[in-house]
Amino acid sequence: MLILVINSGSSSLKYQLRELTDDGVDTAEPVVAKGLIERIGQPGSAITDHAQALEHVAAELEDVLDGRSIDAAGHRVVHGGERFSAPALVTPEVIRAIDRLAPLAPLHNPPAAQGLRALSAQWPDLPQVVVFDTSFHQTMPRQAWQYAVPTTWYTDYGIRRYGFHGTSHDLVTGLTAEHLNISREEFRGIILHLGNGASATAIRDGRSVDTSMGYTPLAGLVMGTRSGDLDPSIVAHLCSAHGYTVEEIDRVLNQESGLLGMTGHTDMRQVLEAAESGDREAEAGLQVASYRLAKYIGGYHVAVDGAQAIVFTAGIGENAAPFRARVLDRLGALGVEYSAEANTQRSDAVRTISTPESRIPVVVAPTDEEQAIAAATVELALRR
Ligand code: AMP
Repeated sequence: MLILVINSGSSSLKYQLRELTDDGVDTAEPVVAKGLIERIGQPGSAITDHAQALEHVAAELEDVLDGRSIDAAGHRVVHGGERFSAPALVTPEVIRAIDRLAPLAPLHNPPAAQGLRALSAQWPDLPQVVVFDTSFHQTMPRQAWQYAVPTTWYTDYGIRRYGFHGTSHDLVTGLTAEHLNISREEFRGIILHLGNGASATAIRDGRSVDTSMGYTPLAGLVMGTRSGDLDPSIVAHLCSAHGYTVEEIDRVLNQESGLLGMTGHTDMRQVLEAAESGDREAEAGLQVASYRLAKYIGGYHVAVDGAQAIVFTAGIGENAAPFRARVLDRLGALGVEYSAEANTQRSDAVRTISTPESRIPVVVAPTDEEQAIAAATVELALRR
């Protein structure tokens, strides 16, 4: 069956047309078509909104489909708030709920809702499913999601930790438990999703019990352009003493910080190359990023009462062997030992890179959010 997977960013729309068996399993060549529409709604762009972008997608797919029809669509939606703890079949009420959550994700939820409405208009009979970045983390206990601020900030404004990258953390949890021959329900581990955005999740009994991103995806680890954790007083100080506006600070923390702010590069490959050739800022940036990550791993080892695995995934986690080594070298106190050879070997498979003596196995697992969204879509829309 054919599943259209839609990932609407604030000004972009990525899509994949995927072919799955009726059981929701990938066929041999699962990606039938894919594309990316950028600069939606930006000055000079011919595409004004996500509804128009979807018309382009429909036109691009006409040739590929060659008379076949799409069986269902699956959408990635950034914020499901506390309302959604699992993927949902789209109804007009679900779309309204996604719109109502816009204050929590002002750049992402409105275009997603618009895309859902546009697709309903384009193909009224098409079943649609929404998969939320936040929903996997709805199992976090209150001790992990509550901030130490007045409770009224939570009750009145929804200020709490939500967490993101849930589809990936969920998928990789399952892959790792299977790889280690542990039942998912009994699996305890630490998942490190290290891409352009990065987050760590503590997994207990196969479920999220803590995660490094917070109210927004700005919190936690050092990322390509995002600062991660920061003393909040810095914001007040920059505003009162140095004339920054809140909007400027928000932009700098999200778009000009992290690896970019420290080293001048967002791409881990460039940062590693620069450090290799003696660039001291690049070296310092890598130390900040790997040190902070190692501290999260130590903390989450305690949170899950002893991890059965430390798992690397996403662009950096799967590919940047020198960065993995920098993180693992800091974990001696946890008894972690890895094989330099296994760490540098390239592979698309789930693999163990620790030595048999390591007290905690270290695993590299490939994530594929589109695949997970397609599988959830088949499960919810077509297999009931
Ligand atoms: P993602 O957001 O998961 O697509 O990850 C994107 C990031 O992965 C890029 O910014 C790169 O920094 C990183 N990346 C991809 N391939 C490599 C590689 N071979 N070595 C180091 N970093 C890589």
